[in-house]
Amino acid sequence: MHNQNCRPNKEDWRNSTELYTIRLARSNYVLTEWDLNCNIDIDTLTYKHWTDPELKELSHQGNRLEYSNASDGVRYILTVLIERNKLDVSCSCNRKVQQLCHHAYYGLFHLIDKYGIYYFQSKL
Ligand SMILES: [Zn+2]
Repeated sequence: MHNQNCRPNKEDWRNSTELYTIRLARSNYVLTEWDLNCNIDIDTLTYKHWTDPELKELSHQGNRLEYSNASDGVRYILTVLIERNKLDVSCSCNRKVQQLCHHAYYGLFHLIDKYGIYYFQSKL
């Protein structure tokens, strides 16, 4: 499932609250599992919790969406900005991560798993 070859070469770790860009490599406005797997490092992918989060849309203004992203009694805010060829994503967990934190990864995974890969296109 994980494809090492497509991972960007990132030297500096980021804070999860800063926007992180997921390139939509396959098609405009379409987030695929492949795109997601290009944006998570192996250490983060091995986390076993948060694999089945509950997502609730909190706000939707233009291309900006905010979700409550909850699992096991813990809740973070997932923010997504939709652009033609990218999604900008942040999570309120305030962690140092290389790419996506596992909350954002599994949150986005849940959305495309439940609503399909055209979900973000349908939000515009
Ligand atoms: Zn997070």
